[in-house]
Amino acid sequence: MLVVKKFGGTSVADKDRIFNVANRCIEDYKKGSQVVVVLSAMGKQTDVLIDMAKDINPKAARRELDMLLTTGEQTSVALMAMAINALGYPAISMNAFQVAMHTTADYGGARIKRIDTDRIKNELDNRRIVVITGFQGINKYDDYTTLGRGGSDTTAVALAAALHADACEIYTDVDGVFTADPRIVPKARKLNEITYDEMLELASLGAGVLHNRSVEMAKKYGVQLVVRSSLNTSEGTVVKEESNMEKMLVSGVAADKNVVQIAVENLPNKPGVAFKLFHHLANHNVNVDMIIQSVEHDSTQDICFTVTEDMAETAIETLKRHSNSSLKGSHVTVTRDVAKVSVVGAGMMSNAGVAAKMFEALYDAGVNILQISTSEIRVTVLIERKYTETAAQAVHDAFSLDD
Ligand code: ASP
Ligand code: MG
Repeated sequence: MLVVKKFGGTSVADKDRIFNVANRCIEDYKKGSQVVVVLSAMGKQTDVLIDMAKDINPKAARRELDMLLTTGEQTSVALMAMAINALGYPAISMNAFQVAMHTTADYGGARIKRIDTDRIKNELDNRRIVVITGFQGINKYDDYTTLGRGGSDTTAVALAAALHADACEIYTDVDGVFTADPRIVPKARKLNEITYDEMLELASLGAGVLHNRSVEMAKKYGVQLVVRSSLNTSEGTVVKEESNMEKMLVSGVAADKNVVQIAVENLPNKPGVAFKLFHHLANHNVNVDMIIQSVEHDSTQDICFTVTEDMAETAIETLKRHSNSSLKGSHVTVTRDVAKVSVVGAGMMSNAGVAAKMFEALYDAGVNILQISTSEIRVTVLIERKYTETAAQAVHDAFSLDD
């Protein structure tokens, strides 16, 4: 049995936590398993390093930033190997270079291309616990890269796929994936199972338990994941292709306050307008969501969409700049105090009425809907931000997701 175990920053935040993780790895090792451990940087170390860089040079080169950030994970793996050794067991730490973990060249947002597994396999065959840095890679220039914030999950899944691991366990500071964020919906319940697709919708909706790309990769390579707590021994949540245990219509409710609504009004109603608008935004790397186009009135139309807060300024500036040229006559209205609330469930595909039930719950709670979007397994509404908790709670209640 080969197991990949990934521990996040809070799970290795101090000496006690490091020894706790070391012991959990040793437990598997003693049962005869081959153990690969993937670690994040300790606690908030990545944020600390980013602040240090900003303090020295707010426009630091991305290459140098990655060079700095990789030290966070390197610290945790070295200390972990030392802790396992101190407990009397053999371990070896490795960084992305030593593995080697090949990625694309993009500093700060690299993608894993290929992992050499020879050295890892050798060390495992020699009965060592192998402790590997998450989040980092190397590119064709032999430079360090990082995979984007939260990227250690993706490292773990990629390793599990490359090593054909029997299990891939993602340890965090919560008990698993919940029907809603317990800070927003106190009665939220832990799920025993969830599908990759549901998890992808929840991850991109800001549920925040798993790095989105790790779920994409797990789905692609059929790596079954378990999300569980490093602080207790409860079972956690299994993420897999199909969940058959709980045939639930809706698995969860997500709330996301990191949203700004942008309306572009008075656009000419002719071919190419939507193309130009979104082309300008794409050129500035603005990701958009929830696009709607109104019906024609007075031979003009409106297009409305949402962006995350960090994209809002760029989006607004870009649109204003073009309002005299290719988007002539248009004007931009921005609404900041909005939030998205979504229901997600694979069961929706074969059941009518989910949207109606959600809208009824919102109506009963007195929450007005500003915009709606759907996918096969998701219904999302845009609402006023001050109603986020009320709305999430009401929808959670309506689908009886409580404990
Ligand atoms: N240490 C990195 C971060 O904070 C990667 C990770 O934790 O997954 O984003
Ligand atoms: Mg994480």
